[in-house]
Amino acid sequence: MTGQPLLRVRDLAVHFASETARVARAVDGVSFELHAGETLALVGESGCGKSLTALSLVRLVDEPPARTTTGSSIQLHGEELVGAEPARLRRIRGGEVGFVFQEPMTSLNPVHRVGRQIEEAILAHDSVPRATATARTLDLLSRVGLPEPDTAARAYPHELSGGMRQRALIAMAISCGPSVLVADEPTTALDVTVQAQILDLLASLRDETGMALLLISHDLAVVANVADRVAVMYGGRIVETGPARRVLTTPAHPYTEGLLRAVPTIDDPRGPLAVIPGRVPSPTDWPSGCRFHPRCPYAWDRCAGEEPPLDGGLRCWLASEPDRRGSTGYALVTR
Ligand code: SF4
Repeated sequence: MTGQPLLRVRDLAVHFASETARVARAVDGVSFELHAGETLALVGESGCGKSLTALSLVRLVDEPPARTTTGSSIQLHGEELVGAEPARLRRIRGGEVGFVFQEPMTSLNPVHRVGRQIEEAILAHDSVPRATATARTLDLLSRVGLPEPDTAARAYPHELSGGMRQRALIAMAISCGPSVLVADEPTTALDVTVQAQILDLLASLRDETGMALLLISHDLAVVANVADRVAVMYGGRIVETGPARRVLTTPAHPYTEGLLRAVPTIDDPRGPLAVIPGRVPSPTDWPSGCRFHPRCPYAWDRCAGEEPPLDGGLRCWLASEPDRRGSTGYALVTR
């Protein structure tokens, strides 16, 4: 991608501190850019820091005990958001940056009609008459593929199916024409067919409006269908980043390799799968050196002693010593 990015994140670090516990460095030096019309996917296991990274973009996790550390920079259209006034951040949330979360029931208010909630989102950001907000709501519900927008607008959230609720939530997220849409596990609660429809909808809205899409997912199949670029996170850091096709077909980082080899393929759905041993470490106690070294099948003594930099989209010492990959690898399990 060329030209100025819509969003530029530099050295984002979100730490949780309390008087009694050790500092948790949950997001620790994350940098990326997002351009108009593109989709960047942040992927990794639970606890890797991907959702926290997304929430931190508009400072949704900046109350004690969390804090965005000095030196972090988040620029939207060139405007610095770290240190921005709370009123300015409120305008940006839901206005210039829209959010779609995993479970729409927790994002929609159960005691208000869906249409009214979208109207309120519009009125919170735009000075338009309510009649205009109502008309825009019906148009949005139609754009997100709800066949009877009037009926959907009058419904309470529990009267819609999971897929319809997610479409309504997407309508709300795009209601003020955001330039960046953050979709955090937007299809995890849906069945596979509806999941594909929602992903198609997000991609077509991105193409139609030119907004950028930041997709957070642990599901590599979801990512493969929509993302232009992928950033794989582990231990609060990006460990591999690059074009989606390259990362998902020829992963360079052992962690990415392990994630991909743990996914069943359509050619061999019952074949053996790789197992990444161990578990994600605690952010209060990241391992020394490469944070992945206790789980990595290729680790050698250098990995435990020195942390590799993110260089050329890869944070791994194998970049300079590829022969060490040798014949070792992940243990496979047959199901
Ligand atoms: Fe594995 Fe070493 Fe690369 Fe870390 S630096 S991923 S431990 S080979």
